Amino acid sequence: MPEQLTVYNPATGEAIESIPQQTAQEVEEAIERSHQAFQSWSKTSAGERASLLRKWYELIVEHKEELAELITKENGKPYQEAVGEVLYGAGYIEWFAEEAKRIYGRTVPAAAGKRIVVTRQAVGPVAAITPWNFPNAMITRKAAPALAAGCTFIIKPAEDTPLSAYALARLAYEAGIPKDVLQVVIGDGAEIGNVFTSSPKIRKITFTGSTPVGKILMKNSADTVKHMSMELGGHAPLIVDEDADLDLAVKQTMASKFRNAGQTCVCANRLIVHESIKDEFAKKLSEEAAKLKVGNGLEEGVNVGPVINKKGFDKIVSQINDAVEKGAKVLTGGTYDQNDEKGCYFVTPTVLADVDTSMNIMHEETFGPVAPIVTFSDIDEAIKLANDTPFGLAAYFFTENYRRGIYISEHLEYGIIGWNDGGPSAVQAPFGGMKESGIGREGGTEGIEPYLETKYMSIGL
Ligand code: NAP
Repeated sequence: MPEQLTVYNPATGEAIESIPQQTAQEVEEAIERSHQAFQSWSKTSAGERASLLRKWYELIVEHKEELAELITKENGKPYQEAVGEVLYGAGYIEWFAEEAKRIYGRTVPAAAGKRIVVTRQAVGPVAAITPWNFPNAMITRKAAPALAAGCTFIIKPAEDTPLSAYALARLAYEAGIPKDVLQVVIGDGAEIGNVFTSSPKIRKITFTGSTPVGKILMKNSADTVKHMSMELGGHAPLIVDEDADLDLAVKQTMASKFRNAGQTCVCANRLIVHESIKDEFAKKLSEEAAKLKVGNGLEEGVNVGPVINKKGFDKIVSQINDAVEKGAKVLTGGTYDQNDEKGCYFVTPTVLADVDTSMNIMHEETFGPVAPIVTFSDIDEAIKLANDTPFGLAAYFFTENYRRGIYISEHLEYGIIGWNDGGPSAVQAPFGGMKESGIGREGGTEGIEPYLETKYMSIGL
């Protein structure tokens, strides 16, 4: 492993900065510091942790422009979207600063001559591994509840986007959070992952990323029986029923599908549209998609930035080619701007019609700005299609009929449901998936639970 990691701008190919990578030995040392710091951090008062988190939140908001510019440079997303990510991410810190004060225990009626008291305490040092698609918010969504609960925290960000992690840590230290309580380590994912999972001092792994890597982490954590939170891949269906408000459905589909160039785990991946409205929906969606401006996210008016790297680009292109070879029709897009020398890859927002289940795009997460449309005639057929995947993160549907809406929502096997809403993620809500999309929830009152142990004391009188 080279000593330095150079981070490149995916929109221009320019090197942004080179930063040191840590060896396995250095990661072990970071774990030891985390373990030592846990002894004192876990004993601080909830009020003290809350006020440090609150200060961190305020500093992030104060520095939102520079943090957003950094996100756009290392990840590629348009600047305004990056500002949105910073504020969204900071919202978790504000939320969990408050939740720190509400870690309640309880007393339970016991047998005569006894008292039962239940308390909650921090699980211990936590190791986090995060992806590149939200270089800022995927960190705060984990660090904030961990610190609020009294855990110490080590983060290994994605190699494509480590600079946001450093920037967040610098502001945390400025806020007064001790350096050993929140640490960043940079290096090879598999190597650092192995150091984390094999260490008995790490009591919890929290991971956001692909399902195959999540499975490796779960297997490797078995020997030390760690707590696990897994935010994994998605393959979101979006159902547009015959009685949907079509303009609303198109607007929300645009937001769900093309945000971050289609590179979010909750992006609509399969549009399942009632046959009676498919032509009108497809026409409106294609017209809107064709208006999106593709380019460098720091330029004014750009809506869709580059895709993160060649691996991501190749997957998107192969899914489009596979669909077209099997009979799909390109309504808009289907073109690319590929510069292998610079490492810059742009995909024009694409809408595909006449898609069917023989095509790879109906079975694999795309992580790109491609909207494939399949049709249905009966709502049970649409629900079956929506559930026909090992994933269960987010699902969307559009209907104005409340009976039908309740029916659909109760039959979808997904952790997050957007009914007439393409952007359901919110700090107050429990975000997370079913099936192979993960274990645990982030955000909401549920978000602090995975960082707490339950202890009960039986007192004999
Ligand atoms: P990825 O390849 O799984 O990488 C995610 C992180 O895991 C990176 O930090 C990576 O490090 C690290 N990693 C890679 N191999 C590892 C290993 N063997 N052991 C331990 N760590 C390892 O995923 P990605 O392509 O960056 O991100 C996209 C995926 O994340 C998609 O599937 C998406 O759906 C999912 N995602 C889910 C959520 C959610 O909340 N459910 C949110 C966002 C994204 P390096 O970068 O150093 O390789």
